[in-house]
Amino acid sequence: MAKLKLGRLWRDLSDGCLQYWGGMGFTWDNPVSRAYRDSRIISIAGGADEVMLTIISKYMGILPKRAK
Ligand SMILES: Cc1cc2nc3c(=O)[nH]c(=O)nc-3n(C[C@H](O)[C@H](O)[C@H](O)COP(=O)(O)OP(=O)(O)OC[C@H]3O[C@@H](n4cnc5c(N)ncnc54)[C@H](O)[C@@H]3O)c2cc1C
Repeated sequence: MAKLKLGRLWRDLSDGCLQYWGGMGFTWDNPVSRAYRDSRIISIAGGADEVMLTIISKYMGILPKRAK
């Protein structure tokens, strides 16, 4: 749950920073640009967000069953 939340929060935060910085935030040598790119990895590596959602819903017993 923490990994899922962190991934989404970091993406949202870095997106907000980039929007605030405008064109300057988009340039390679700006740390905001780096943070924006790096934020994506939390939602991919070590199990994508969709995998985290599957695990959480399994624990909660609400994972939809496959149609037979
Ligand atoms: C920089 C970096 C460092 C890494 N370091 C390590 C490491 O140290 N150790 C290690 O073991 N691995 C490491 N990895 C691998 C990482 O764990 C995998 O990238 C990650 O598990 C996702 O697998 P994938 O890249 O094959 O994407 P895929 O499995 O092909 O997933 C692509 C997309 O498909 C969707 N998807 C995938 N599976 C499901 C599903 N079950 N249900 C619904 N949607 C799904 C998601 O949207 C996902 O983003 C690293 C990867 C990167 C990029």
